Amino acid sequence: MTSTRTRRRVLKQIAATAGVIAAGSGLGIPVRAASRRDADVIVVGAGLAGLNTALTLQDAGVSVLVLEGSNRVGGRVMTLDDVPGRPEAGGTEFGAGYARCLSMLDRLGGFPMQKWLDTVELPFALNFDGTLMPMSAWPESPLNKMVGNERSAGGPLMGPFGLTMMYAPRPSPLNGLDSWLLPEMASYDVSYGDYLKSKGASEAALRFISNDMPTGDVNTLSALWQHRLFRFQEFMGGIDGLNRIATGASRFPEGIAKLLKREIAFNTQVTAIRADKDGVEVRTRSGRTYRAGRVTVAVPLPLLREIALEPALPALQAAAVREIPYDNMVNVFFGVKEPYWKVDGLPSSLWTNQPMGRMFHFRSEQGEYLWMNVRHPQSPWIKMKDADVMQDATRTLHRMRPSTVGRIEAIAVVNWSAHPWTRGHNVYRLPGQIARFGNVVAEPHGRVHFAGDHTAATMMGMEGAMESGERAAVEILQLA
Ligand SMILES: Cc1cc2nc3c(=O)[nH]c(=O)nc-3n(C[C@H](O)[C@H](O)[C@H](O)COP(=O)(O)OP(=O)(O)OC[C@H]3O[C@@H](n4cnc5c(N)ncnc54)[C@H](O)[C@@H]3O)c2cc1C
Repeated sequence: MTSTRTRRRVLKQIAATAGVIAAGSGLGIPVRAASRRDADVIVVGAGLAGLNTALTLQDAGVSVLVLEGSNRVGGRVMTLDDVPGRPEAGGTEFGAGYARCLSMLDRLGGFPMQKWLDTVELPFALNFDGTLMPMSAWPESPLNKMVGNERSAGGPLMGPFGLTMMYAPRPSPLNGLDSWLLPEMASYDVSYGDYLKSKGASEAALRFISNDMPTGDVNTLSALWQHRLFRFQEFMGGIDGLNRIATGASRFPEGIAKLLKREIAFNTQVTAIRADKDGVEVRTRSGRTYRAGRVTVAVPLPLLREIALEPALPALQAAAVREIPYDNMVNVFFGVKEPYWKVDGLPSSLWTNQPMGRMFHFRSEQGEYLWMNVRHPQSPWIKMKDADVMQDATRTLHRMRPSTVGRIEAIAVVNWSAHPWTRGHNVYRLPGQIARFGNVVAEPHGRVHFAGDHTAATMMGMEGAMESGERAAVEILQLA
């Protein structure tokens, strides 16, 4: 793993070279065409990936214009600043191994940070098939039909997460963080259910783990993708190393955006990109066109599918863009009117084996809130109006945890599955998709480059987004 200092030095060297070329005929842009362009490079999307692409290019002396479809920066990093308790609706936790994020936080002058474990109320209560108990009672519960070590593997702290970890291969077959892309790892690119069964997982364990999977089913997820996730989590130092920005995660992308010299064009949805020998023409929904030498598209795959590219992507890359899935997530936030946990004497956070999934109780100087995050693909909430979700989620919570009746109130919903600018929560891979597609979604297509967490080869989440932005920028700078 390259150290932060080495990475900065390499970027500086690339920047020094690029500075010489960027003002004229660099980046493969003919001088005549360059005089008619809106920027050297257009970046589509002002999430962390797009912002880091833009800033890295700007640092190298390249002129950049960022086009953003929504009216804000940050994409899937979203602090609900106007909601009591200031809930986090998106990317929040910075892992100890997040070198790029941590170095950027330094550059931004630092923010007050909080340890995740100091803000979340653990352990969990468990509602299993309608029976409520502390997670600590689970190992001996008659409802627990698991076998051997599985019975207590969830432990009192993290429930099925612990059970999933019990079956994580140790040591990981992935030596490096990017080893999931090695051809010899393709044998792991089978259904995660098959992998778990080969390790002796019981049917009861498979059902419990399924409930915590992005697809709601261990059989529809690639085991290699899960191993990648485990390897990444291991590198990050587990939950002990997680930190959040006390004043809200959105301060991070907002801070990066402030470093950009040129104003971001908001409410500017890109619908088509045409590239030819002179450069790229980027068309927006309003019909306006922008010209540049190159473009980096840093939007999630469900949105990339809707951008018409000319020339079209090669067949394999086009199939990858079309077929690689995102999981669902509906977030429901509740305010706490009275401490319901004092009424039933159970831990305040709740894990269920029902479609509502799990609910975390956060408490900090910013206030207090409950975060229910529903990933189940069959959840009816995915297609419901927010107001109806609030009502239904309140009823569900009352049923799962009767002591909450009259003591909580729904205060916000963020439905990432229906969100117009993401249409999903996080990318994952079906069995066989890693062997078939590798990381083809990251490959440049002539003058069109791609960023976004879904293109990162080593890191994931916010750090993956930052990695992808850096890679896309360096790709362009190295053309010099
Ligand atoms: C609920 C939730 C919790 C998470 N928790 C964590 C966590 O704790 N730690 C962690 O590291 N990661 C976490 N993540 C993941 C992390 O938030 C993402 O990996 C990261 O923010 C992705 O950044 P991105 O720039 O790749 O994509 P996005 O953030 O999705 O940015 C894409 C941008 O492109 C814009 N856009 C889309 N289409 C167009 C278009 N056609 N034209 C113009 N603009 C367009 C969008 O509006 C958006 O601003 C979480 C995510 C979610 C949803």
